[in-house]
Amino acid sequence: MIGFLESRYPFLASAQEVAAENGASLEDLLSSPGFEEARARGEERVLSAIEHSEVSMAPLRSDFDRVMEIMSYPYARILVSCIGDRFLTRRYALAEAVRMNKLLGEEEYAVVQRIAGELDVKSKVSDDGLRMHFSDFLRFSTRIKSTEWKLVNTELKEGYVFLTHEKFDRLLQNALQDRIEGELPLDVPPEVASAVSERVTRLSNILTAAKARFSPQFSGELKPETLPPCIRTLMANAQNGVNLGHSGRFALVAFLHAIGMGYDQIISVFSRSPDFDESKSSYQIRHITGELNGTDGYTPPECSTMKTNGNCYDPDDLCARETVNHPLTYYRIKCGRPKRE
Ligand code: SF4
Repeated sequence: MIGFLESRYPFLASAQEVAAENGASLEDLLSSPGFEEARARGEERVLSAIEHSEVSMAPLRSDFDRVMEIMSYPYARILVSCIGDRFLTRRYALAEAVRMNKLLGEEEYAVVQRIAGELDVKSKVSDDGLRMHFSDFLRFSTRIKSTEWKLVNTELKEGYVFLTHEKFDRLLQNALQDRIEGELPLDVPPEVASAVSERVTRLSNILTAAKARFSPQFSGELKPETLPPCIRTLMANAQNGVNLGHSGRFALVAFLHAIGMGYDQIISVFSRSPDFDESKSSYQIRHITGELNGTDGYTPPECSTMKTNGNCYDPDDLCARETVNHPLTYYRIKCGRPKRE
């Protein structure tokens, strides 16, 4: 069977060897009728990244399917590079990484370890599961803010952190995302750019329309320095594609609604995330703000609930004051407004 692993993980160095062994060259990829399927699939990779922030899966039943899948990856990277949009580059990198994460869930430890090695992540497999070197664990977990990802809450042995299959895969997702973001854009020669110009124009138009939908005009004035540390962290996570979890998302939307932000302003916070899903975010915001059921919406959680849910990040001196038991109290003090009755 040709290129089984490489078609699932086309960023592997061995994918290029499989392509070469099957006579695939850059010239073929750009213009040969025999590679039209790889070109179409490459465009589909970028399109699904724009629309769903996740690269779709393709059938990999035959040797032909697998070679086309392998070749679609460099083609997609050429397209993203020619479009040259920072938001798209980040979203595409995340989308490829999310696809890999899903596939890794089906793999045995030996394959996961091979992928880790390819991503320069030091790992060990032992009887009780997977371990990652603590330096790599820190490198890829610091952007995930919930307490369960803190090094002190892990089992550390001889410099390696024990992780479940799921958590190990999640960190590899960050590793691949960083790798792709760092590699793109490629330096594309003019003749290559010219060969892909039609697809680039089509995707650029789709991207422009998607960005317009994702980011309605933000007209309000939100001063970051007035926000409590928990909300600042949740906002930063939302904008960096870090999964907030249900309670974090709820707290953030309810808080922003309570301080007077409207639907357009709230969704613009989430729209900057590379994994922004318009319909899902829209429903959640309209539900939490009460728009769906004609109420005033939910009250944001107080500090004790935030702490219980692991959403209280880096409380500062103002948080420590006895009178501050709610993120809204913190905000009102910072804004110089009296505490609401
Ligand atoms: S103490 Fe309250 S306001 Fe401060 S960070 Fe924690 S939850 Fe937010």
